[in-house]
Amino acid sequence: TVSELCDFGLIGLAVMGENLALNVESRGNKVAVYNRTTSVVDDFINGRAKGKQFVGCHSLEELVKNLARPRKVMMMVKAGPAVDAVIDSLKPLLEPGDIIIDGGNTYYADTERRTKEVEEAGFLYSGTGVSGGEEGALKGPSMMPGGSPDSWPHLKPIFQAIAAKVGPNNDIPCCEWVGPRGAGHYVKMVHNGIEYGDMQLICEAYSMLKEGLGLTNDELYDVFAEWNTGDLDSYLIEITRDIFSVKDPETGQFMVDLVLDRAGAKGTGKWMSQLALDLGVPSTLVTEAVYARGLSARKDERVKAAKVLQGPSPKYDGDRKQFIEQVRQALYASKIVSYAQGFVQLQAAAAEHDWPLNYGECAMLWRGGCIIRAVFLDRIKEAFDKNPNLENLLLDFYFAGAVDKCQDAWRHVVSQAALLGIPVPAFYTALAYYDGFRREILPANLLQSQRDYFGAHTYERTDKPRGEMFHTEWLDLR
Ligand code: NAP
Repeated sequence: TVSELCDFGLIGLAVMGENLALNVESRGNKVAVYNRTTSVVDDFINGRAKGKQFVGCHSLEELVKNLARPRKVMMMVKAGPAVDAVIDSLKPLLEPGDIIIDGGNTYYADTERRTKEVEEAGFLYSGTGVSGGEEGALKGPSMMPGGSPDSWPHLKPIFQAIAAKVGPNNDIPCCEWVGPRGAGHYVKMVHNGIEYGDMQLICEAYSMLKEGLGLTNDELYDVFAEWNTGDLDSYLIEITRDIFSVKDPETGQFMVDLVLDRAGAKGTGKWMSQLALDLGVPSTLVTEAVYARGLSARKDERVKAAKVLQGPSPKYDGDRKQFIEQVRQALYASKIVSYAQGFVQLQAAAAEHDWPLNYGECAMLWRGGCIIRAVFLDRIKEAFDKNPNLENLLLDFYFAGAVDKCQDAWRHVVSQAALLGIPVPAFYTALAYYDGFRREILPANLLQSQRDYFGAHTYERTDKPRGEMFHTEWLDLR
């Protein structure tokens, strides 16, 4: 009978899929699960799923047969060709109106394409960004669903039930419809890029405090504990604080000092940066963050260079307490610029792809469940609620004021970093963006002159209407 059928199907029982399946089941749903390597299904059913409302399936046919209509089948498989392979296998098994969901870290353009292909085959498709790692998947992730709009009414009750909750009564789900086709995965990518920026900024603050002031890990713990009580209150500041307290059981040394300074990356930061270049929008923080990881990865070259290349002593000899506060302010101001850039990129992408995005809502999706969750996101929501067409967060009254309050400290920290030879590329680029953005006149008049001089690229004039192009024979007029 129908009541025996499952409410939800999940394909791919790796870390994310397994935890998400448990989350869906825990909200009163019966869940059918399938994994390509079927022993994984058996292990799950006999292990963590024991005594719960699960049906373990050894084929996609079995999975589809066990689902109530319209079927909701979520893929949590490796992003890339695996997703196409699963979709192709599902198509002959599904019936019109059934919904395929991709919850992986998929490149948004793939989701644009797949939404069209799946819709043409008579089904609905949802590319849903899921953030929060293993724990988020189990207890409540941040979810960014996009795709076929008609899929949303069917997915909403389940997705909003499993998502993280925020707000004074803990009842606002971090899951709301984002937009058509690849919009959900794009917003997820920008979230990841912003995460890159946040992490890099925190690392630069750490570097200033550790190298400039020589703070110990115990002192760093106290500084981050203090920072977590104010404007910077966030998951990343909190875990950074905790990292400074963890000792290696084997050696008794601080773990953070034993971790090799060679960063890895899975590529979503790079995607955001590449797409920013394509759109012609300056998302410089994520780009610097990607480059900083790249430079860190070249450890062997750095070890050689450290023996050859000279620089100043990194020791700061000013007021220590004041400097810690100045670094905090530099971090906060840079973070505001990073989010401002992220939202400018989202707006540019939305215009290019015709996605009616709600930017305040996007900020709220990241308010809980994910890595960049922070109190600060409430302010972003308020800014876009006040003005849904806000061109840049830096033009919002609250953020303009916050940056203004921080700017003396920010300039001091960036100039000290240069004098002390401590690399803070994200702090620099954030300040350079701020100073460029707030300037009515940039030196691009000279740039246009150069382009016209050597390449007859033409220019506009300050004393003539915009769009009217001129060319000068510069050589003749010298
Ligand atoms: P994963 O390592 O990315 O993928 C492994 C899963 O994909 C396994 O179930 C595997 O099945 C299946 N798979 C691979 N190729 C397949 C194919 N050709 N056909 C069918 N199934 C195939 O798993 P994950 O770490 O749980 O991540 C799942 C998705 O969530 C990814 O897109 C990932 O980027 C995203 N994500 C991960 C995290 C995280 O913290 N890990 C956070 C957010 C989002 P077999 O067992 O048969 O190999």
